Amino acid sequence: MKKNHKSLFIAIFLAVLVVAALFIVNVGRTTKNSGTDAAEDGTASKSETENSSDTSDENSSEDTNGSEGKMLVVTSFYPMYIGAMNLLDGVEGIEYVNLTEPTTGCLHDYTLTTEDMKLLSTADVFVYNGGGIENFISDVVSAYPELTMVDTSSQVEALEDNAHYWMSVSNYMTQMEEMAEGIKAELSQGNYLSGDALDQAILLIDENLATYEGKLAGLQETEQEIADALADSENTNLVIFHEAYAYLAMDLGYNIVGDMDLDEERQVSASEVEEIISVLNENDPMPLVFADPVYGEDMGQTVSEETGCSVLYLDTLVQSNGEYEKNSYVEKMSENLSAILEALQ
Ligand SMILES: [Zn+2]
Repeated sequence: MKKNHKSLFIAIFLAVLVVAALFIVNVGRTTKNSGTDAAEDGTASKSETENSSDTSDENSSEDTNGSEGKMLVVTSFYPMYIGAMNLLDGVEGIEYVNLTEPTTGCLHDYTLTTEDMKLLSTADVFVYNGGGIENFISDVVSAYPELTMVDTSSQVEALEDNAHYWMSVSNYMTQMEEMAEGIKAELSQGNYLSGDALDQAILLIDENLATYEGKLAGLQETEQEIADALADSENTNLVIFHEAYAYLAMDLGYNIVGDMDLDEERQVSASEVEEIISVLNENDPMPLVFADPVYGEDMGQTVSEETGCSVLYLDTLVQSNGEYEKNSYVEKMSENLSAILEALQ
């Protein structure tokens, strides 16, 4: 009897070991797959990355960062993620994921979710816009003091109380340089790659940055064309229906004579409407209006009916309707600038 018990115990023990081994092998595969996906096509979704980190948490209490020793870069929102897609394209050893969704937009009132905190706990680098757009930064710093924070705004030309820096092409370029520097600095610590692999990764980030800056320089040429046309024009007056356009105005040389911040859906009072209409009427020549195609459409229609002013609907490049597209900044900004140039001619 005693002997039977003993062998039964051993059999159960062996069965448990086999099941555990199968589980570990399977988990290893899942982790590897999601890491490779992310690195190859840059479309890591939050849940994919979280899955991989969840499983690695179960298996290892030491390496909870990324998967398979890869460096995990988390970006705060759409314009930053699009930047990462360009700078980290094809770079081995780095996985990147966006904290928020492509449809989230500006993060002014964003509150971190439990899911976000879980993702950040697995991150090696957090890349953000700065200037207060991410109002939760202090929570991240105090929860994860070891996390490398890359504030892309440390060298930008900032307007007061306005952190929509990416709407100035030259500022966005500076932000991309800061992002590349921050990521390379973390990589150079040697915790993820070493030797030739490290050198190659850094070289590729530099090349990617140069390629992206080349595209952005193309936008700056159009900006210069607009600036030249504006300098010759008698009308540089501008009214903006979103503070993000103040950065475009800065790049192009417009003179902002009135603004209304229609960033989120909010009630606009009758007196506000009256005031902006009188600003439009009192300025001679009549200002041009820049408005957001979503939040500013109703107001744009109202003021153009009341005053006869021209309204240009421009993208604030802060979100898409669902997809991350590597060239979206360049394409949408190019559309914005073409519309402005056309209005000047
Ligand atoms: Zn905003």
